[in-house]
Amino acid sequence: MATKDDCIFCKIANHQIESDYVYEDDLVCAFRDMNPQAPVHVLVVPKDHYDNLVDDVPAETLAALAHGVDEVAKRTGIRESGFRVIANTGDAAGQTVHHLHLHVLGGEGLGEGLL
Ligand code: ADP
Repeated sequence: MATKDDCIFCKIANHQIESDYVYEDDLVCAFRDMNPQAPVHVLVVPKDHYDNLVDDVPAETLAALAHGVDEVAKRTGIRESGFRVIANTGDAAGQTVHHLHLHVLGGEGLGEGLL
């Protein structure tokens, strides 16, 4: 697995640090955000390290991330009601953890969002 020593999400994806996991397969894992912004707030991350969504991520990994989002939506009960997926990409977007992650947000009171 391609990891970065100082990357918190590499450590969580490797189980060097344990988290509240919702889903895991060979390529991705999903765990609950420690500072939830909605009733359901889960992060889906690749196990290999990529800085963000435009860091030459292989198509197979992108597909696995999409599958991970679907699994999270099913497992947290938000697939039918609807949910939001966000990938903050780079400094101007406020990305603070520089390991690609998709925020999956759902549940009561989600609102209409910015777009
Ligand atoms: P922002 O911090 O502005 O939301 P990001 O899109 O980079 O920017 O999101 C990083 C997310 O990672 C935050 O929602 C934060 O709460 C979450 N986070 C950081 N460290 C951990 C951790 N150890 N376990 C779970 N979630 C974490």
